[in-house]
Amino acid sequence: MEPAGADDYSRGQPSALDDDTSSANNQSNESYPSQKNEHEAQSPSAAAAAAAASASAAAGADGEDRTAESASYLQRLLTEGHERPDGYFCTICFLPIEIPVGRHSVTNVCCMKTVCNGCDLAASQLGMYNRCPFCRTPLPHEGASFLAMVQKRVDKGDADAVHFLGDQYYQGYHGLVEDVPRAIELWTEAAELGSVEAHFNLGTTYYDGDGVEEDKPRGTHHLQQAAMRGHAESRHNLGVFAFGRGNYEIAVQHCMISAKMGHEMSLICIKAMFMKGHATKAQYAEALRGYQDAVEGMRSPQREEAKGLGI
Ligand SMILES: [Zn+2]
Ligand SMILES: [Zn+2]
Repeated sequence: MEPAGADDYSRGQPSALDDDTSSANNQSNESYPSQKNEHEAQSPSAAAAAAAASASAAAGADGEDRTAESASYLQRLLTEGHERPDGYFCTICFLPIEIPVGRHSVTNVCCMKTVCNGCDLAASQLGMYNRCPFCRTPLPHEGASFLAMVQKRVDKGDADAVHFLGDQYYQGYHGLVEDVPRAIELWTEAAELGSVEAHFNLGTTYYDGDGVEEDKPRGTHHLQQAAMRGHAESRHNLGVFAFGRGNYEIAVQHCMISAKMGHEMSLICIKAMFMKGHATKAQYAEALRGYQDAVEGMRSPQREEAKGLGI
């Protein structure tokens, strides 16, 4: 595939990957049952290498170079991003935050630091109302003062703040007029500055054609970028897409990674694939164990208390 342009997206990897993995996995699905035991014993990277090799094997004589490139991209996709990124840990208790992070934490615009619901509750119990539990800045309310504080961080090139401002435009919050093109512009800038969450938003927005013209390869590319940086929801979506194409082997590998980060729907997906014979019992057991370990690692008495209060 010839690059269509100079930007990262246009290098042709996502669509090539999409096509090639489809054919590769249609092929590997047929032989999957007899490979079960061998597959169970493989490490994730060995499994990724096998999947990449199988993508290579599916290449026609005229597409070998492109397929080799796609296979190596697939291998990277499956071997990178098994750990959650820094921003998904509470800045006070340092524990990983439950998924979805936005529901289980607060991010204050003073410092853009993420604090889990448990630590936020504990700060309130200590009388720290209307102040950021991390930097103790008095928090602005709705509207102009809130946006001015965000803008301050944006002006400093804070990727999370640029992403956050994009969200406000997307939703039309704080007196802003809903503006999807502006949101996309800000998310794109944030993604370039390193925001994983911005890649996720761009991914789902382009993939679903939500306020923009639908562009599934572009959406998939952004989800892949986020997944390779440890974004669990993006990884889960890639698993669901692979499942939808009948690429069960790849679907299991994606969902295994996100289940081990504590993504419940990924565990449910692997269970469903196991029930239909698309995943082995050992894979389901591994996902269940990994998920339970991740959930255990995200528990704290303060978080339990917050949940008990419906926070
Ligand atoms: Zn915390
Ligand atoms: Zn703060």
